[in-house]
Amino acid sequence: MTTTKRIIIAAVTALLISSCSMLEKEPKLVRISGVVFGTYYTVSYYEEEGRVFQHEIDSIFDDFNSSLSFYDKESLLSRINRNEATGVDDYFVAVFNRAREIYVETDGAFDPTVFPLVNAWGFGLSVREEMTPERVDSLLNYVGFDRIRLENGNIVKETEDVQLDFNAIAKGYAADIICDYLVYRGVYSCLVEIGGDLATRGLKPDGTGWRIGLEIPAADMVSPQEWDYFVEIHDTGLATSGDYRRYQEVDGKRYSHTIDPVTGYPVEHNMLSASVFAPDGMSADAYATALMVMGPERAIEFVEAREDLEAYLILAGEEDGEFSFYASTGLELKTRDDL
Ligand code: ADP
Ligand code: MG
Repeated sequence: MTTTKRIIIAAVTALLISSCSMLEKEPKLVRISGVVFGTYYTVSYYEEEGRVFQHEIDSIFDDFNSSLSFYDKESLLSRINRNEATGVDDYFVAVFNRAREIYVETDGAFDPTVFPLVNAWGFGLSVREEMTPERVDSLLNYVGFDRIRLENGNIVKETEDVQLDFNAIAKGYAADIICDYLVYRGVYSCLVEIGGDLATRGLKPDGTGWRIGLEIPAADMVSPQEWDYFVEIHDTGLATSGDYRRYQEVDGKRYSHTIDPVTGYPVEHNMLSASVFAPDGMSADAYATALMVMGPERAIEFVEAREDLEAYLILAGEEDGEFSFYASTGLELKTRDDL
């Protein structure tokens, strides 16, 4: 299980008090939770009869897992990585194509072919290797989204050693897929959260958006905290990358699980996490990872140049336990006083 992210999904009950009147028939709030992709998920939605779509959701997750899971050795993705399959399904095509666009837009900061490096640095399926500059260079020969393409529904690799990692995009996409399904079943409004990444659709019956808490870390970075700000969103995806509770410590040095696909090394800068608001969950997820690769200056420049993206970045200060944050220009942060 990955630890809870720094985004508190303030679908926190206290914030969900809706203006339900006893006289009118109001849609009912349904909440479903469970485990998927080695983390927790929560689905919240308003539906006229309060129908519970647990089975349907679990079966979508099962399909999704058989296609894109990195943990499932028999998933299509795992088989493609072992060169045992080339034909892809719809989930795979959607993720692959969007990943390609974001790879291009971010000048390769987001790159799913980073997998051989992720593994060698110990964040994938194997334990950390002894990483010398020579080893990094040799692995870089298999990294680069130009080395793999889709041709008539089949994956074509430049060499067999090219492998894909959709961990930085699949959770957001799964949240979108569940939202799409719920909307198709007639729900008014939904919030699907998977391990801190989420997608939302529609306004709540009282006409407001979903409230999401954002926090500044505790001084020790691990103590649980109450949220400091909140945002109200709808028809928006939100993902956070760079969970600073997830790293490898070797000889007292911390290694991030975000790898710069250009240098081949884990990123090193003072940005502890990047939360991205985008029109959908899949894009938010991938851009959040890309911003972590870019580092604060490039990330801010990138987001400010994009009308469709907003970001909330947590930055470490000079002193231990000192933090600041950057909220992009279009992001409307609210405080407890706004409640
Ligand atoms: P989290 O796993 O905390 O949700 P991310 O969405 O950023 O965070 O995904 C991180 C994972 O993405 C890493 O564990 C690794 O598998 C993969 N990854 C690391 N660096 C990159 C990169 N530059 N581009 C794409 N995927 C990456
Ligand atoms: Mg991501």
